[in-house]
Amino acid sequence: MDYNKLAELLFPNIDKTPEDYEALYPARGEDRVITRLGPSPTGFIHLGNLYGAFVDERLAHRGAKAGNPGTFYLRIEDTDDKRFVEGAVETIINSLKFFGITFDEGAALPAPGQEYGTAESGSYGPYFQSKRGPIYQTFAKKLVSEGKAYPCFLSEEEIADIRAQQEAAKETTGIYGKYAEKNRNLTYEEIEANISAGKPYVVRLKSDGDTSYFKIMDAVRGEVSMPGNNQDTIILKANGIPTYHFAHVIDDHLMGTTHVVRGEEWLMSLPIHVELFTKLGFEMPVYCHTAVLMKVDEETGNKRKLSKRKDPELSLDYYRKQGYHPQAVKEYLLTILNSNFEEWRMANPNADIDEFDFTTEKMSSAGALFDLNKLNDISKDVLLKIPADELADFILGWAKEFKPQIAPLLEDRDYLTRILDLGRDEAKPRKDLIYASQIWDFISYFYDDYFVIQERVPEQVSDEDAKEILSRYLDTYDHSDDQSAWFEKIRTITADLGYAVKPKDYKKHPEEYKGSVAHVSTVIRIAVMGRSQSPDVWSIQQILGEDKVRSRISQLIG
Ligand code: GLU
Repeated sequence: MDYNKLAELLFPNIDKTPEDYEALYPARGEDRVITRLGPSPTGFIHLGNLYGAFVDERLAHRGAKAGNPGTFYLRIEDTDDKRFVEGAVETIINSLKFFGITFDEGAALPAPGQEYGTAESGSYGPYFQSKRGPIYQTFAKKLVSEGKAYPCFLSEEEIADIRAQQEAAKETTGIYGKYAEKNRNLTYEEIEANISAGKPYVVRLKSDGDTSYFKIMDAVRGEVSMPGNNQDTIILKANGIPTYHFAHVIDDHLMGTTHVVRGEEWLMSLPIHVELFTKLGFEMPVYCHTAVLMKVDEETGNKRKLSKRKDPELSLDYYRKQGYHPQAVKEYLLTILNSNFEEWRMANPNADIDEFDFTTEKMSSAGALFDLNKLNDISKDVLLKIPADELADFILGWAKEFKPQIAPLLEDRDYLTRILDLGRDEAKPRKDLIYASQIWDFISYFYDDYFVIQERVPEQVSDEDAKEILSRYLDTYDHSDDQSAWFEKIRTITADLGYAVKPKDYKKHPEEYKGSVAHVSTVIRIAVMGRSQSPDVWSIQQILGEDKVRSRISQLIG
């Protein structure tokens, strides 16, 4: 068979050569780390994307300190146009930007002075796979001309029959070995006749079929040993569009990717990629197959993969809507990404996260366990380190986007800052703040429109006593009292009304008292804050101001 003639028959319109494309893209430079994110534009951007993007970004940018910055670029894998969702690319870019991850190059990056749009920046494009058709076809043509790929006319029915036959015989399914023979051995004339008759065909790799084990280094997993590929994998589909396998190999080669970070689910296709890289004569990138994100299922208690349907926390939107601070999510992701991060954080509590020396070797290769409670714990610590005025800006920004009705209230930034600062400068600071929507619930009583009495007074206190406590409190209230003068007055009310000034006296002799100072204080707390759990009452009153304190109490006394 004259393979050159066959290549011309299949690709009459391809007039460029692989060398033309090789010449088009400049060398990236020695020792530079080039990584990429290759999401499909489905509109759903998830934690796994962020997890991968984070690794890509760290790998590419950690060389900057040593004066050798790498490049992290965005390639949109949109060869499956059924899944393309309008605005998805912007969503990807903006969601990652929110978490402080930005691309240096690639799809939809703005030209100078331009907003994020549909532009591209960089010398290795197009960065949308849908625009790279002729490139893939040029390389497929080369493989055909070298007898390493061939057209396959198997119909869907024929493939289904083969599959049924293989399943019955308990054989590996797919087109390989004897199942590939018919189409591998078609003559030029047969192929030409099929094409003239309008028979659809795909282009398949002509695999060497060598299934002996080979070894490959994975930056996360160490040395991996796997059987070689024997499948005549499809490289171009009937519509001329490449499969993931082919696009991956061509793009990562031409775009100069040095490290391919992708989910563990691709590991089993690695033998196909190795064969393709070899047949095309390309140098292999370093692979980093990251662990699948798992969680402990609340119902069964077993570990399972995070699921789009069951777990809202898989979507990155979840964190933005809830108002998690990006710094907290980043810090948390590092704890599940790198096994030595927590230790480093303990030794360097105030260091910038970017100073952590991220390495793929310390990444877990077994399922990474995701745990919202842990994220919340980390978030408490992270928020504590963010100055209150910055936190105020963050919460206001969140409110404008996700709870606009409260944004005008939060515009009083001084007030909000004082609220957020409450109880933070103590030896054992309060850690009540986790994420913006939770913080809003926690502080909403500071705003009259959202102040509601949520709890009943303790059972130790009769309605009559409650009124009496509040009325005495109001009568003796002096907003300029310091904390101890203020508390002294509560003690007096407590003793006058027959409650124990020391809670332990009440515990020891419950028959002698109606209750204790704790119950009396709770009555006041509920009157001023609407709830029995809150930071220090005196401090809260200082922020609320005298008018609010007096009016809330007066309203209850009637
Ligand atoms: N488009 C692929 C995906 O979304 C990218 C995998 C890769 O990074 O190679 O899974």
